[in-house]
Amino acid sequence: MSTHNPGFATLAVHAGAQPDPATGARTTPIYQTTSFVFESADHAAALFGLQQFGNIYTRIMNPTQAVLEERVAALEGGAAALAVASGHAAQMLVFHTIMQPGDNFLAARKLYGGSINQFGHAFKNFGWEVRWADPADPASFESQIDERTKGIFIESLANPGGTFVDIAAIAEVAQRNGLPLIVDNTMASPYLLRPLEHGADIVVHSLTKFLGGHGNSMGGMIVDGGTFDWSQSGRYPMLSEPRPEYAGVELHKTFGNIAFAIACRVLGLRDLGPAISPFNAFMILTGIETLPLRMQRHCDNALAAATWLKAHEKVSWVSYSGLEDDPNHALQQQYAPKGSGAVFTFGLKGGYEAGKTFVEGLQMFSHLANIGDTRSLVIHPASTTHRQLSEEQQVAAGAGPDVVRLSIGIEDPADIIADLEQSLAKI
Ligand SMILES: *Cc1c(COP(=O)(O)O)cnc(C)c1O
Repeated sequence: MSTHNPGFATLAVHAGAQPDPATGARTTPIYQTTSFVFESADHAAALFGLQQFGNIYTRIMNPTQAVLEERVAALEGGAAALAVASGHAAQMLVFHTIMQPGDNFLAARKLYGGSINQFGHAFKNFGWEVRWADPADPASFESQIDERTKGIFIESLANPGGTFVDIAAIAEVAQRNGLPLIVDNTMASPYLLRPLEHGADIVVHSLTKFLGGHGNSMGGMIVDGGTFDWSQSGRYPMLSEPRPEYAGVELHKTFGNIAFAIACRVLGLRDLGPAISPFNAFMILTGIETLPLRMQRHCDNALAAATWLKAHEKVSWVSYSGLEDDPNHALQQQYAPKGSGAVFTFGLKGGYEAGKTFVEGLQMFSHLANIGDTRSLVIHPASTTHRQLSEEQQVAAGAGPDVVRLSIGIEDPADIIADLEQSLAKI
């Protein structure tokens, strides 16, 4: 393997892992421990002073988490990564590392509803301002940048609308203005697309979705692309200024291209605390081993379901970038030619009431607030995930009152379509 670059499916199974040095166990063990014994007083001091890497306490790092971090970093082509308790925790730690009170950042208006809430409400308490922009219009980002702007946030494949974003065009705006581009790659997964290859600097994930893939464990990840220059004159003081809690260490000088991941760990995760449990890290690692197989099946099934729905007389529209006449199809072909993901939306001619009847009439699909399960899922975003938003925000986010969202599972496509068909018949 030494001179040969392993492929994606191989990395999904092997990256970061080796037989357990203590026992020979082939599967990565669940290191279910809070803390780790020091070799000596000097060893302990070196770990605490950041002079040496090593395990201290599972809130900060743990061997099971470390394998998960290395694996996702390898799949995304990043320099380093940090696993945390959830996708939202990942986002919080990213912004904690780049923002000071009074700063602002730009975010695409088309985002997961929970992220719209986190940015618009919770972040306000930290004195961080979000400025919304149109992901289809890079100029709408650039026109809002000022001297207190610290970053740009987009989703590669937007939830719930299932539309691809022109990452390279927004990366150009970020680069021109010396800002990091943060991309949430949850919906696409690195199997379909790797944002770092298109100019992103940081990738975040909800591991809860396709990477874990089985609807059983919460987790989040921050991937450091290792390319952003954090030294710029005091703009990112967490990275460029001497840290009092670490005897004056300047993280970007000491840690080079993994400084951002280190800062998220030793300043954010250590002090704010959203650690992932070793058990969840193990479950998600196991899920990732089959990511390429599952993701392709999700995409193939979703294309079959979207094509079938589009031809149905009770369906008014289907928004799935895999359909050849979809307005987003060209971007999908450019960014993710292997497939368009599992999630898409459609509208019923009968509007809100027909949507309710349809959701309740499904038998195999589960009505719940999640995506990226092996099982097929359905939800009505306007009454659930996007409920807190105004109707105008709902429409802008692709979650208007008539919209039904599906997350297509890996079951037999004939059974998925049969369930859609029997429920449509009830309307
Ligand atoms: C679910 C989700 C999140 C939040 O992740 P959690 O693990 O639920 O905290 C963020 N972004 C996207 C696109 C998501 O689907």
